[in-house]
Amino acid sequence: MQISKKEIDTVKQSHDLRTVVSSYGVKLQKKGANYVGLCPFHNEKTPSFTVNPKTNLYHCFGCNAGGDVIGFVTKTEGIGFREAFDGLSGNGKSITPLPSSILAQGL
Ligand SMILES: [Zn+2]
Repeated sequence: MQISKKEIDTVKQSHDLRTVVSSYGVKLQKKGANYVGLCPFHNEKTPSFTVNPKTNLYHCFGCNAGGDVIGFVTKTEGIGFREAFDGLSGNGKSITPLPSSILAQGL
């Protein structure tokens, strides 16, 4: 079954990337309009992993990784788009390690 763009947009909009990133153990600190943290995709000592809460997109200035919430889960979990989409939309296996407290907030 094909996933419609509308469904994808809904999943993207209903997940705050900042919360999802934090749930994977990345500590984010507010820096200007953005949030920065240590990149989960490469080793670094100075945070260059940036989350833009307005666009709900991330970008790493160190390894050039970037994308949206589905892309982040895909890359972090090492799974396919479909799996990440299903997990985030609550239809597939739940995306680890989202704590139940976050799920309870209706994410
Ligand atoms: Zn990086």
